[in-house]
Amino acid sequence: MTTTAVTHIASLVTNDPSLGNGTPLGLIQDAAVVIEGDRIVWTGESSKAPATDNVLDAAGRAVVPGFVDSHSHLVFAGDRTQEFNARMSGQPYRAGGIRTTVAATRAATDEELSANVARYLAEALRQGTTTFETKSGYGLTVEDEARALRIAGRHTDEVTYLGAHIVSPDYADDPAGYVDLVTGPMLEACAPHARWIDVFCEQGAFDGDQARAILTAGRAKGLHPRIHANQLSYGPGVQLAVELDAASADHCTHLTDADVDALGQGRTVATLLPGAEFSTRAAWPDARRLLDAGATVALSTDCNPGSSFTSSMPFCVALAVRDMGMTPDEAIWSATAGGAAALRRTDIGRITPGARADLVLLDAPSHVHLAYRPGVPLVSAVWRSGERVV
Ligand SMILES: [Zn+2]
Repeated sequence: MTTTAVTHIASLVTNDPSLGNGTPLGLIQDAAVVIEGDRIVWTGESSKAPATDNVLDAAGRAVVPGFVDSHSHLVFAGDRTQEFNARMSGQPYRAGGIRTTVAATRAATDEELSANVARYLAEALRQGTTTFETKSGYGLTVEDEARALRIAGRHTDEVTYLGAHIVSPDYADDPAGYVDLVTGPMLEACAPHARWIDVFCEQGAFDGDQARAILTAGRAKGLHPRIHANQLSYGPGVQLAVELDAASADHCTHLTDADVDALGQGRTVATLLPGAEFSTRAAWPDARRLLDAGATVALSTDCNPGSSFTSSMPFCVALAVRDMGMTPDEAIWSATAGGAAALRRTDIGRITPGARADLVLLDAPSHVHLAYRPGVPLVSAVWRSGERVV
């Protein structure tokens, strides 16, 4: 197999604390990485790099692991420009706007939906995202949810069944009947096409008892839980996530001390989605409070047409540093290794021998520039599974 070395990396983020400067980022100065096939086979100081077939001189630029975007909603049609415009003109955000996207998604063809996923995937890749999770949740019928998952599965292995995004408009007068559908025939049709099950546990969506019933039913079908929790208000979502050993509790904007303690002690990752607060002008989640309690924090885009229409992990890093109390080191870790933890993956989110060769070369001498130079396209090259894709 061909070997390629990237040499003279000014600053390499490995996310292995046993390497380099001994921090969680495992920073190595003047470093090199060797790729063989789809794997990383060597990392260390550039002067000690082994001979390889090909050499790329990074010429004093930084390399970070490919971003792991562990929360997105990309199987949709249409957009919600007017709703965003109205919100920025003073109207509040409510969960019900999802219905607009449901109508457009049901009306779209498979090809239109798949092309849309591919478009946002390409957009994210140009910004350094090499792994992404995505969800159903804009179909809300047995057929439309299963279709969304089949389409998502053409583009990623990290597929989440979110039939419980909101109560389907078809069941507006019978929410209990909709929960029966989500935990019965819809789950039956969707489980073969998904790895995860998710629920939007929120006022106006599903309460704690409904969320528990939905996630428990999914678990019995072999799906692993994750949850939209405590986004718009205080609620039972985070405690339920920890109780059910969910891989991730996502949003975590409104947390009691007991919620923070539970996340600090359990292994459920707190995934923060600053694009949502940005795009709804809402109060920021307090990353500092979670980190100080010992929680594992991930950053993700929540890319969706309603509440967070960004595919940019660098943008989320910048917001987390500026407004959520994270240091640049913490934000980079959360956008890479943190996302991997939220997907219970150990083969991505790090640049160490054996990991998948997912690398981002930055047009900057340090990863700190991702927060220091917000909005600037610093991603200069991307490798995914050892292949240079940007
Ligand atoms: Zn979401």
